[in-house]
Order: sequence, then structure tokens, then C-alpha cells
Amino acid sequence: MNSILDPNVVYEDISADVTEHDIDVVSDLWNMDGRDVYRGSRDPRYTHANVYWLYNESLSRVGLCEHSLRDHAQFHILWLYESEFATFLQEEGWEVATDIWSKIPKHVYERCFSEGFTTPEKLLELCLNGPSRIVTLEMIRSIPTIYSCDDCKQKSLKPICVSNQMRPLDFPQKEKVFFIDLDMVIHIPPTDSRVFTRLLQHDDSSLQVQVLERQAPLHMPPHAAPPPHQTGPAELQAQA
Ligand SMILES: [Zn+2]
Repeated sequence: MNSILDPNVVYEDISADVTEHDIDVVSDLWNMDGRDVYRGSRDPRYTHANVYWLYNESLSRVGLCEHSLRDHAQFHILWLYESEFATFLQEEGWEVATDIWSKIPKHVYERCFSEGFTTPEKLLELCLNGPSRIVTLEMIRSIPTIYSCDDCKQKSLKPICVSNQMRPLDFPQKEKVFFIDLDMVIHIPPTDSRVFTRLLQHDDSSLQVQVLERQAPLHMPPHAAPPPHQTGPAELQAQA
């Protein structure tokens, strides 16, 4: 979750636990954005702003308030949500759904496990030659570079051929973008999510489908892809 006062600052420690310096701190009840919250003491770890964590009645951390160092009256409230994507974008309405494996045909699922394709990056690698895309929070922060080869029509997250072309990851179809966390759980954005604007800042091809079909099946690439110039994940896909 990035600071609004200084977008270069990322709040990394955003669990629901009480921060160390707020233990045994007595706080008054505040109303912020229409929510009743308890405000902790100033967090000494942050120097870009005066940062105070906010807690609910059960003393779960639910957000923070950051005040400008120069003008205390200038402040922003940031909330923590169940979905890490919602917290990062400060956007309500994200739904934490099932894991990605439930979207994948059984034979592909079994192959993924037997060949170690069990991380978001490796799964994205398998998807690159089709329209599906796997997107983690880290990939939203920093769009991955894709290497492609016009000769063998392959794409990869790593250099694959002599004649590589490099460009940012593309998103051919909005309804086939799967947002997943590191536990491979799917997070479903609200239909008007700003996440797509953010992804497309780097994409020169436009998203063709405007309606998000929440239960769209994960499309894996066709099995008869031409072999790449060198061996790699693309070849595994060709043998599927
Ligand atoms: Zn090639």
C-alpha cells in the first residue's frame, strides 16, 4: 500500500496485528470516513509523514492516517481490506474467491504440479501464447517484460530466441485476466475497477471485451504450438 502523501513510500507492514509501539497505548474513539476507529500513537518508523495506525473495537488494525509534516491539517486515510489488491488500490469491492487450480482442466493441473509450474510466474509463462493472463500485486506495481520471437511465434518471461523482441506484458482480453496472490487464490475485481486502467497504461493493444465475466474458464494455449528455437517452458506447452 503506497502512501498518498509520498507515493514512493510503501507501507509494507499491513497485517491486522497491533503494531509494537501501539501495544498498551490508550486511544480515544475517532470517527474517520464514517467509521469508528481507535487511533494509535505516531509510528516512529515513518519519517515522510506523521503516521497513525487505526484499530477497530476488537483492536484489529484496519487502516492508517497519514498527516503532512508541514501541515497537520493535510491528511489522508488509507484502509486495509481483506484483498491485498483492494488495499493496494484503495478500492472496495474486491472478492477473495477460490484458488486458480479450480479454473484449470484436470490434465493441465496435474501436469503443472508434476512439472513444478506452481507459482504465479510459471503459470503466466504457460498462458503467454494464449489470451489468459495471471497477474499478481507485484506485477501491477511493475509490469513484467515479455520476450517474443516473430519466427517461432513464442512468448516468454525470459529471453527465448536469438531474435527476441521485448515489450510490456499485454492483456488481450479483460475477462481472462486472473488476479492471484502468492497462495494462488483468485481475487475478483469490482466491474469498474481502476486496476484495468493501471494495467493498460503499458499495453499498446486495447482490451476488446468490456464486460467482466466473473466465472470465465481459464484458457490454456493450444497444444499444437510450433516448437521454439531453444528448449524452455514454451516447449513444455507444445508437448501438452
Ligand atoms: Zn524464435
